[in-house]
Amino acid sequence: MVFVENGHRLSVYRDHGGYKSLQKAVGMAPADVIEEVKASALRGRGGAGFPTGMKWSFVPKDSPKAKYVVCNADESEPGSFKDRYLMERDPHALIEGMTIAGWALGSNTGYVYGRGEYRYLLDIMDVAIAEAREAGMLGKNIFGSGFDYDLHTHTGAGAYICGEETALLSSLEGYRGHPRMKPPFPAVEGLYASPTVVNNVETFTSVPQIIEMGGIAWRDLGTEKSGGTKLWSISGHVKKPGVYELPMGYADMEKFIMEDCGGMLRDDKKLKAVIPGGSSVYVMNAGQIIGQNVTLDYEGLVAAGSSLGTGGMIVMDETVDIVESTKNLSEFYKHESCGWCTPCREGTDWLVKIFDRITSGGGRPEDVQLMLDIADNIEGKSFCPLGDAAAWPVQSAIKQFPDDFKKWIVNGAASNGHVVEANM
Ligand code: SF4
Repeated sequence: MVFVENGHRLSVYRDHGGYKSLQKAVGMAPADVIEEVKASALRGRGGAGFPTGMKWSFVPKDSPKAKYVVCNADESEPGSFKDRYLMERDPHALIEGMTIAGWALGSNTGYVYGRGEYRYLLDIMDVAIAEAREAGMLGKNIFGSGFDYDLHTHTGAGAYICGEETALLSSLEGYRGHPRMKPPFPAVEGLYASPTVVNNVETFTSVPQIIEMGGIAWRDLGTEKSGGTKLWSISGHVKKPGVYELPMGYADMEKFIMEDCGGMLRDDKKLKAVIPGGSSVYVMNAGQIIGQNVTLDYEGLVAAGSSLGTGGMIVMDETVDIVESTKNLSEFYKHESCGWCTPCREGTDWLVKIFDRITSGGGRPEDVQLMLDIADNIEGKSFCPLGDAAAWPVQSAIKQFPDDFKKWIVNGAASNGHVVEANM
């Protein structure tokens, strides 16, 4: 992706080749467009990493119902801000990608669903949509193909759970944002009980490049299983935080943090922990990264003990107390739990209560095992992925940073977690 000055304007986007992929796509058979996306090995950039072409192929071609294309622009994952960057600087790439998806899937209507805090980005999208409509890239008979397609934006109210695709669809229909039972999956029964494809902003903005280059050529920018390039949002204790585009399979994670992002913010401090994929993945300790040649793709991060998630990388130096940072995340998940199912609703609350006890000086030696038991009763036993997302930070923090927990429990509040040596 190349960001250029005023790239949000249609004229600038077109000067740089914008909408040529849409013109090319509407000259292809819809099934061939889906085949190109399959060949690209593009995997959903919203966190789950499901193959995009396969998802598109699940939409029934012979359904008499209207079909919908929905962009998940809810981007609520702590540490992730690349979709914000895309909508701010390259909104026409998202429109073009969604319109190509509409052609491929036989849809005439798309929605961009953004979190409440992203209202200003949806204002940018609305201007871009109006520009595209005025110029004939949206609306009736796009590029003289007979294809009609239009886009609309919609804001949620800022609930993290609405990033889960079925909760998003409930919210888009005007209901409370509760997740739905799956199956049926949205590809068969989604928005208004009609076939619907839901993809992330970065996923859709990759599609014009795939059509332009061809699926295989785009795949070869990355690896066979993780095609193309990926945007990483990196924040925390690095000198140059921001959004970086890297080929999938980039080697290696240590080089990315220590060289590309300028190294640690405070030079005399060492790397302590990294959450590589947004807060809902396992936290890694420095020993899992330094000298380990961790490749930045789905497979490499799983092999290293975590996962790619949204690519929202949070870097922490040795001054960070992992009990406090994990407590912060647990408070987030407790707040964002929609309350629908018992393990998540009750479990997230109990985790925060125990964190409160530990950080107020009343921690008990058995509290660590108690937290692991609660996390185990949330993981895999909740109705939607938020449950796992709440359990994994706690499980991995205890596993990778046991001494931080011991310090609090042995020394109590007087140690402030990192002043007095533990003696357990
Ligand atoms: Fe709601 Fe949490 Fe259950 Fe998901 S896991 S349905 S967020 S209570």
